[in-house]
Amino acid sequence: MLHYSCDMCKRPIDICCEPRHVVKIDVFQAIDDSSDECGGSDDEFDHLDDVQDLLQRIDEQELEMLEEEVTRTLRFDLCDECRRTFLKNPLGGKSSKSLNFSNN
Ligand SMILES: [Zn+2]
Repeated sequence: MLHYSCDMCKRPIDICCEPRHVVKIDVFQAIDDSSDECGGSDDEFDHLDDVQDLLQRIDEQELEMLEEEVTRTLRFDLCDECRRTFLKNPLGGKSSKSLNFSNN
């Protein structure tokens, strides 16, 4: 039987009597289409050819490692309580102020 524990409070989650929540976060570099406005030159096309060449030469395993550096997927199991806490403050900043957001 699979055993889960909450990644925030480390408490074991008993999935037969309480909900388990999964948080998935993809972290990746944004590709901004408007970036050629800021001084993009034709040189970039040469670079693209180089990258294509490179991609064709490296094997799949290396490619995975390469992607790993650019894209990170984080996955957490949360208990019901921590899910609520997480949603209030997903980026984990100082929560003292956000708790009174009704006063804003
Ligand atoms: Zn928890």
